[in-house]
Amino acid sequence: MLLELSEILACPVCGPPQVMVAVAHESVGRRVSQGFLGCPTCDSRFPVEDGVLYLDRPGSGESREAILASGVALSPDVAMWVGAVLDVAAGRGPLLLARELDEIADAVAGLAESWEVVSLNDARAERPSGPPNLSRIVVSEGGSPPVLAGRCGAAALAGDPGPDRIRRFAAALRPMGRLAIVAPGPGVAAAMREAGLEVMAPDDRITVGSQRC
Ligand SMILES: [Zn+2]
Repeated sequence: MLLELSEILACPVCGPPQVMVAVAHESVGRRVSQGFLGCPTCDSRFPVEDGVLYLDRPGSGESREAILASGVALSPDVAMWVGAVLDVAAGRGPLLLARELDEIADAVAGLAESWEVVSLNDARAERPSGPPNLSRIVVSEGGSPPVLAGRCGAAALAGDPGPDRIRRFAAALRPMGRLAIVAPGPGVAAAMREAGLEVMAPDDRITVGSQRC
């Protein structure tokens, strides 16, 4: 986990705007391999083990079933589309990938070499270490990003995430930051507009919105 990610993450217990402090027991360069993030207000500690940050807390957010029901088949081209519409060759990160896109996280990170890619997921499974610019964060069953407002350069979701998740991911974006939704459900463009985004390219493969200045 990149040390600087502690600057974009809120305490999952207290919620935004409560920030956390990173304590590294082992690190390689700016990447923490063992340590924890701690909240100075509620004293919660969230471990970093083998470079993976565990922010999971049971019983928060929307159900896992709701997210899986919106699951989409991810073709090998999806990472390319996401990289193209989020303009990962320009701009700056971090790029927040929702859990339903975790399986393309390595490919997206490979395309977005100058960005930090933050993949949210729910598995404690063994994983290969992946590209150097990829941070994995295990979140609780809701999969909501405990991210401070306005800190991310881009984000991506898939399927029909619903207005609440779209609003939370949109709030994480900096001005001009982009949100992509792969294989969007029917209400996605309207929900993105309601979340304050300017919808740029409604499409049946991917819909993109931009946070206003
Ligand atoms: Zn807290």
